[in-house]
Amino acid sequence: MTPSTLPKELDGKVVLPSDPRYRRLRSTYTKVSRPAMVVLPQSVTDVVVALRYARDSGLPIAVRSGGHGLSGRSSNDGGVVIDLSGLNEVRVLDRRARLVRVGVGARWAEVAAALSPAGLSISSGDHGNVGVGGLATAGGVGWLVRDYGLTIDHVRAAEVVLADGRVVRTDAEHEPELFWAVRGAGAGVGIVTAFEIEATELRDVLVAQLTLAVDPHGSTLTRWAEHLAQAPRRLSTAAMIMSSGRQAILSLTAVYAGTDAGRARRAVMPLLKTGALLDQNIQRAPYAALVSTAHLHPNLGQQPTSTTNGLLPTMTPGAAQAITAAVTGPRPALMQLRSVGGAVNDVAADATAYAHRNSAVLVIGTVFPPRDRTELDDIWRPVGAYTRGAYANFESRLDAAAFRRFYPGPTGDRVLAIWRRHDPDGIFRSALYPAGLS
Ligand SMILES: Cc1cc2nc3c(=O)[nH]c(=O)nc-3n(C[C@H](O)[C@H](O)[C@H](O)COP(=O)(O)OP(=O)(O)OC[C@H]3O[C@@H](n4cnc5c(N)ncnc54)[C@H](O)[C@@H]3O)c2cc1C
Repeated sequence: MTPSTLPKELDGKVVLPSDPRYRRLRSTYTKVSRPAMVVLPQSVTDVVVALRYARDSGLPIAVRSGGHGLSGRSSNDGGVVIDLSGLNEVRVLDRRARLVRVGVGARWAEVAAALSPAGLSISSGDHGNVGVGGLATAGGVGWLVRDYGLTIDHVRAAEVVLADGRVVRTDAEHEPELFWAVRGAGAGVGIVTAFEIEATELRDVLVAQLTLAVDPHGSTLTRWAEHLAQAPRRLSTAAMIMSSGRQAILSLTAVYAGTDAGRARRAVMPLLKTGALLDQNIQRAPYAALVSTAHLHPNLGQQPTSTTNGLLPTMTPGAAQAITAAVTGPRPALMQLRSVGGAVNDVAADATAYAHRNSAVLVIGTVFPPRDRTELDDIWRPVGAYTRGAYANFESRLDAAAFRRFYPGPTGDRVLAIWRRHDPDGIFRSALYPAGLS
């Protein structure tokens, strides 16, 4: 292909391998790729033109917002990457209703920074460089998750470019089936260009950092989960479990969605007793400091991983032992725990395409190269025996079995029916699941 065959509307918005910008645009956070071109739309019309061009040229299409997807499918080799980073507007539409319009190309750090002066926050994830589009089409397990719920639970409308080039605004009244799928399974529906999201009235939070030695029999993890099962919803936690020799260490961040220090301390104190305390530190911070602009960086394939996850209705002693053993065994993985109960479980299982509304804990397992997926599968197996379903955004291997863990039973059937209706040729789902879906 030559620049002369490119549509006029995309003049100056197409980056070919010969372009000096290509090096910083070709890859994702987890994978180095070599696409034929990266298109940088600056408007919804540009997205429509880029999509039509990519379809007409018969090249594979990758859709990218922030480039942080763990599967690396927001780039490809030899195809067209539609990079939406130019669609990054963040605008408060209605302060009283806390309604915010967010372009998919914004990073969550930019969203948090833009909303902070208005005293508003949207719970997204833990990393500021993650893009709006990938996260808000699948879930959004953030620092305020037990209080706020998932990011998708607050999406009030979405603007989508469908496979045939039509631009649709969908909400509870308009194209409700599409709206259902966008919230949890949006990646196979089309290209979302913007969301309207209801933010929460919150600027500052209290943050506790704890480092605990993990009991080898799992009681640290069961006590953590027991406390979270009845703790005030304002408390959300994320923990990393790492090995230090044969000892597992839990590095826990507890975020209290509010600034009442007395209440926050009472919510956090029981966590200090879950394992032998090695260190602690509690401080007030703007929410925007947690999802920080200091996280922003170009994605150059710098962090390849093999990652998988599963959801637990409760942390049984068996599950706690299996997770602890995955860290302390001869081939330790990095394990993470997120509290996902509270407000997440207020939503009916069939209200959105994220069906896992009876889970309390999200468990994530990761190994880094040169260790590979086969090794992760071996380590994960005993943990996976306790999990029910999985979250699409913490999985690096997308295949038909993974799809059914993300979208179990009737949810998966409904997702596939909607994907097939709006994308009969499967351009979006084949980019995600190249081996096909049954
Ligand atoms: C360091 C790190 C920390 C993370 N922390 C969290 C966390 O705390 N909580 C959490 O919930 N998740 C977290 N994630 C997972 C994150 O939600 C996903 O990786 C998400 O897909 C990233 O969004 P993105 O826009 O940056 O991804 P991209 O790589 O741009 O996109 C990923 C996929 O999403 C689809 N997609 C992207 N944009 C659009 C769009 N506009 N329309 C339709 N489909 C689209 C495409 O299929 C694409 O392949 C983390 C990931 C990393 C790497």
